[in-house]
Amino acid sequence: MIGLISATAAGRAGCERLAAAWPGRTVLYDDGARPLREVVAAAFADCDQLVLFLATGAAVRLLAPHLRGKAEDPGVVTVDEAHRYAVALLGGHGGGANSLAAAVSSVLGAEPVVTTATDAVGATSLDTLPYPAEGALPAVTRALLDGTPPVTFHTDTTWPHPPLPPALIRLSPSPSPAPGSAPPDSAVSDPPSAAEKLPPGGSTTRKNASPEAGQGHPGEDGSPGTAATGRAETAQPGGAGRTPAERGAEDDAPYAVWLTDRRITAGNTVFLRPPSLTVGVGGSRGVTREEVVTLVRSTLAEAGLAERSVTALATVDAKASEAGIVAAAAAFGVPLLTFPADTLAAIPVPNPSAAPLAAVGTASVAEAAALAAAPGGELVAQKRKSAMATAAVARRRPRGRLAVVGLGPGARDLVTPRAVAELRRASVLVGLDQYVNQIRDLLAPGTRILESGLGAEEERARTAVAEARAGHAVALIGSGDAGVYAMASPALAEAADDIDVVGVPGVTAALAAAALLGAPLGHDHVSISLSDLHTPWDVIERRVRAAAEADLVVTFYNPRSRGRDWQLPKALSILAGHRAPDTPVGVVHAASRPDERVAVTTLAGLDPTTVDMVTVVTVGNTASRTVAGRMVTPRGYRWQAP
Ligand code: SAH
Repeated sequence: MIGLISATAAGRAGCERLAAAWPGRTVLYDDGARPLREVVAAAFADCDQLVLFLATGAAVRLLAPHLRGKAEDPGVVTVDEAHRYAVALLGGHGGGANSLAAAVSSVLGAEPVVTTATDAVGATSLDTLPYPAEGALPAVTRALLDGTPPVTFHTDTTWPHPPLPPALIRLSPSPSPAPGSAPPDSAVSDPPSAAEKLPPGGSTTRKNASPEAGQGHPGEDGSPGTAATGRAETAQPGGAGRTPAERGAEDDAPYAVWLTDRRITAGNTVFLRPPSLTVGVGGSRGVTREEVVTLVRSTLAEAGLAERSVTALATVDAKASEAGIVAAAAAFGVPLLTFPADTLAAIPVPNPSAAPLAAVGTASVAEAAALAAAPGGELVAQKRKSAMATAAVARRRPRGRLAVVGLGPGARDLVTPRAVAELRRASVLVGLDQYVNQIRDLLAPGTRILESGLGAEEERARTAVAEARAGHAVALIGSGDAGVYAMASPALAEAADDIDVVGVPGVTAALAAAALLGAPLGHDHVSISLSDLHTPWDVIERRVRAAAEADLVVTFYNPRSRGRDWQLPKALSILAGHRAPDTPVGVVHAASRPDERVAVTTLAGLDPTTVDMVTVVTVGNTASRTVAGRMVTPRGYRWQAP
């Protein structure tokens, strides 16, 4: 039983909402007749779990005299007066308070506050995995939050995903067929029993539970041969917030998370659906949406494949505006990809036929289009026909993901939210050790970190691409913008089109410095690196001359190091040939870092010894001025002229 205790009107309203949401599972202790101390004492003795609508301080004082030990005390959640937070105060794992906090939050619209180690920073949440989930979500989430029973993770192949929640136990190797070698019809015939499919040691009882699979999604539940043949995933109808005692005997099936596009029969299992399947469709003129949708669903069901893994419908160009096919793609919520007949004609397929050859110029539409939409993939369901339509399914090769992420100049609040999201999404992080240290705390627990020292650029680039090719979600990091004198170009020079690449822009040093200096970049400007390690000096010098002649504002990166001390004075002397000695020059050391130093001086006045490798030097153009100590380059357009 869950005891509900309140001391105010708002608390009472909260208790009533919980009682209404969980009929038969709660006891209201708010009788108003006894002092709160006695009410708490009674509830503590009676209940498996308590929800106290009290400040944490008050709750701690009231509970303290009764505490006996982790194994015996009820799980306790406190909720603030405004119902903003549900705090798992006591018995996070054993007492089920972590999952109770989540359950209370979902009823009240509050935010769960969970502080046990493995659950920090959202690490238990399956929602952090970027795949649609179906199946026994409440039961498995609860097991992850409570740390018991153990939940195992299985996958057919590597799909790029963030680190798994630490509570999820990866079985290695997963007892499942290798990628692509899954006999497509393994689930068409009598499906193997759940026990055969689940990890060794797990005895499985199949429950006669309602299939949650496909809920809220166009139609797995309604598809022919799904529930009827028992191929749909079965799921425990686990109501959030049940007490451990109430869970009892129904939870005897092993708890698992499967990342797979196959329909597997198993209780207490969450299925994460990778974007792996493409469905090729053909249709005679006038075919209806219903016919296409029904055929696609039955083709998937027959092959034991999950609808939520479908990423696209595909057909021949000539059918691009066939209304029934267009509407079917919309019904599945996926794009319709179309291919020229000669592209499809060139793809070898198991079941070519004469009819489409005569009609649209290719001997296969469904099978060839499915394959065309899944480069490097394979056919997992051969062509099936209805009166006016055909359908076939292909499985794509998983594509790894390489995010090239700029971390900004140093300050945490100049790391963009998108960069943070990409860091948390990666299971592998590649970068220079000093940059890794800058953001280590932002990484999801379990991130594999491949750090290396200065100078290992090529190797870092190769490692990042190789990891992405292996199917992982990789973040390759760089300071400032990762594309500016940094890792993006060596990495992308290495990468083929078999991985997905995303770039996250960062605040580059020139911009961070400009913001500190004033407005030096108000007109045309250029960045030049003075490092002649990889670029011959005469090339650098030619560019400095061109910038000087073109009157561009110049920002020098890599301006000066212990071994490279003559390049900066030389570059400045070239600029001085075209600009006055009092041209403003900004020197910014360690922009946005604790040892930041900013100076505005002049071409004649700059002391090069104040410049090092953590500095950028920005030289104004002939119109740049110093105004109130700030560097300003006028925009100079006519509308601004005096
Ligand atoms: N990708 C980085 C640049 C790498 S090249 C970016 O976009 O900022 C390295 C050079 O950048 C350094 O020698 C220095 O000139 C400059 N730099 C990088 N971070 C800096 C900072 N916080 N302050 C000043 N200069 C910086």
